[in-house]
Amino acid sequence: MKALQLTSPGHIDINDVPVPEIEPDEVLVKVAGAGLCHSDLHVLHHPAYPAIPLTLGHETAGHVAATGAAVDGFTAGDAVLVYLVWACGRCRQCVAGRDNVCITTGGRHGMPPCPGLGPDGGMAEYIKAKARFLEPLDGLDAVTAAPLADAGLTPMHAINGAWHRLTSGSTAVIIGLGGLGHMGLQILRATSDVRIVAVDVDQQKLDLAHGADERVLSADAAEEVLELTGGYGADAVFDFVGIQPTVDLATGLIAPDGALRFVGLGAGSFTYSASAATDVLPWGVDVRCSYGGTRADQRQVLDLARAGRIAVRTERYALADGLQAFADLEAGAVTGRAVLIP
Ligand code: NAD
Ligand code: ZN
Ligand code: ZN
Repeated sequence: MKALQLTSPGHIDINDVPVPEIEPDEVLVKVAGAGLCHSDLHVLHHPAYPAIPLTLGHETAGHVAATGAAVDGFTAGDAVLVYLVWACGRCRQCVAGRDNVCITTGGRHGMPPCPGLGPDGGMAEYIKAKARFLEPLDGLDAVTAAPLADAGLTPMHAINGAWHRLTSGSTAVIIGLGGLGHMGLQILRATSDVRIVAVDVDQQKLDLAHGADERVLSADAAEEVLELTGGYGADAVFDFVGIQPTVDLATGLIAPDGALRFVGLGAGSFTYSASAATDVLPWGVDVRCSYGGTRADQRQVLDLARAGRIAVRTERYALADGLQAFADLEAGAVTGRAVLIP
């Protein structure tokens, strides 16, 4: 079968590889669509990514092609989403529903295995996964649903972790309206009545930011949000970029007691000083580097999509044109999510 693989640092190719062989507890899925995440670019540019060669693609949906001898509950043809977080399911955190920070498979500084980031992913004709990591799509289209595995899941988790600051009358800022951010905006709109300020550097992304109350170019955002809030700041800020300018922006407009959520992995940073000078962070701000999401977040995202309350905006590429999709994402030329179709 054809697979888009990371072959060496900085290089991806479409290669011929064997169809995966399944174990008794696994399912072979014929891929319908595989979303392309900005994290795939971080992996591509990693100087020494530990899993090479690697079939990329951590947002995958498709149809069951074969089931292992010990699998029940799935039959050939079923439409399924491949859940991102391949956690142990048994440790204290998993049992408490925090499988994205699994003790056994992630540990203190790691993360549970994700298809396409360790095990082979979905940018191929087939992917294999343990049956327990599949979610039935139940009526959702498998191509447009694929990005819900990360571009839906991860914003859902960040938002669910900030509910205490998303009450009526609050202001929330979404920075970066790409794959994750355009879903974050929709999820926030569907699940809260906060005032939403959408921020991007790209006017075209702002034009498509339906559901936002205000749309602001990044360079003007700090001033505009402070003006909108009488100088107080935003109660919740979701940074879906994480580069230095957006980290500066996020810390520069968060309100006292605000929820500051870093999701983007652009290597921006800030220095916190434990003193009465609150010029870096106002009193009471809580900061989270939000990772992925939990199985419950995934179910919630799928339910919102089935209810028609959120929808991924997709740009479709044949798998054979996958390298072009990577180039387009890198150039900022993708709106919504690029999905590769084998
Ligand atoms: P994307 O390329 O689809 O979108 C990025 C968006 O940010 C674009 O709309 C771009 O115009 C905008 N942007 C760039 N510079 C900006 C600035 N200065 N101000 C405002 N907007 C700006 O990327 P994506 O796939 O949505 O991923 C976003 C980030 O999230 C990446 O760093 C990715 O690695 C990370 N990520 C993190 C997790 C997690 O669990 N924490 C999960 C998935 C992705
Ligand atoms: Zn991702
Ligand atoms: Zn666990």
